[in-house]
Amino acid sequence: MNPEPTPAKTALLGLDRSAMKHWCAQRGEKSFRADQLLRWLHQRGETNPENMSDLAKSLRAIVAQDGEAMALPIASHHRSQDGTQKWLLDVGNSQASNAIETVYIPESDRGTLCISSQAGCAVKCPFCSTGAQGFSRNLSTAEIVAQLWMAEHTLRREAHAKGLTLDRGKIITNVVMMGMGEPLLNYEQVLPALRLMLDDFAYGLSRRRVTVSTSGVVPMMDRLREDCPVALAVSLHAPTDALRDTLVPLNKKYPLKELLAACERYLSCAPRDFITFEYVMLEHINDRDEHAKGLIDIAKRLPCKINLIPFNPYPDSGLKRSSDGQIKRFSGILHEADVVVTVRKTRGDDIDAACGQLAGEVQNRLKRKPVSEQVVHWQKQTR
Ligand code: SAH
Ligand code: SF4
Repeated sequence: MNPEPTPAKTALLGLDRSAMKHWCAQRGEKSFRADQLLRWLHQRGETNPENMSDLAKSLRAIVAQDGEAMALPIASHHRSQDGTQKWLLDVGNSQASNAIETVYIPESDRGTLCISSQAGCAVKCPFCSTGAQGFSRNLSTAEIVAQLWMAEHTLRREAHAKGLTLDRGKIITNVVMMGMGEPLLNYEQVLPALRLMLDDFAYGLSRRRVTVSTSGVVPMMDRLREDCPVALAVSLHAPTDALRDTLVPLNKKYPLKELLAACERYLSCAPRDFITFEYVMLEHINDRDEHAKGLIDIAKRLPCKINLIPFNPYPDSGLKRSSDGQIKRFSGILHEADVVVTVRKTRGDDIDAACGQLAGEVQNRLKRKPVSEQVVHWQKQTR
């Protein structure tokens, strides 16, 4: 006779507070145990139940038997001269199509982590190397949270080893969901991850410092507004439907009129009193004066900031970054019309730290070599 199959262990990093309380209740444990478990896992980065000293021995045994907190295998790690760090994480059988990326960007007043929500992306914007890879799969809540958990505790250990004291007790103060994937097309898994980011028993980040970036999944923008209104960035990239249909194919389903109406609705609950519109600068495609004028008309309709992103080229995209002069001229036109506009600084250029860049490159390299065979490469920090 076959032995009984062992029940799968619960991925504890994927449980938000209510799910953790439920998990404890199912095992006859009181609700405050959930708070303790969250603190051990997320605030202290402890994964071994034996070390969770204020838990009863019986509970430690249950956690060891039924739960697990797993780090994602690191396929590669890169450190830029400007302090930006990028991890390529393996989320499935060392297949290149299941590699995701997480980027840490330190600045004087904050530490921002850019995380992924999907392996690949089905939206297929033609300027995005994640889109060019196609869609592989949704990440689980545990895989989304594991990126923050790994980065926070790795960087904290590194800081402690150097004898540094952390002003805020933590390294990462801001999270942006601007890595691989469309977060609002993986809403059910992203929502508990956002809740953990905000939870005082976990990462305790302010709503204003957690940003979801979307290509415009209108119904899910409404759900996010109701369930967990965090800061919102919308990838606009074009001022007309005709052009946006080609740059963000989801526009055919949710055209500009509907998208802008959803942005206005979102503002009624948003933690910030503006929406950020992202606008990738593509030479001769969306960077002409007429496009700037179209953007002004949109910006006059609702409180917003426009973030111009110089295009990060990737092989075979067939697209070019607008010249510095044209980006300056374009932002000048917006500025003259009193539209709040910023140009995104390119960080970590030497390690391809832009959305989807490294994973794309690794996918090419992996035609020769699986991720697991690659050496984890720790470059010397030069900063
Ligand atoms: N799917 C979401 C979030 C991930 S992409 C979204 O599209 O909003 C994060 C941002 O990077 C988006 O504004 C996206 O349009 C932009 N982006 C993607 N590829 C880029 C590239 N090659 N150069 C510059 N920006 C890019
Ligand atoms: Fe997907 Fe965003 Fe890339 Fe478009 S820009 S393909 S929505 S990840």
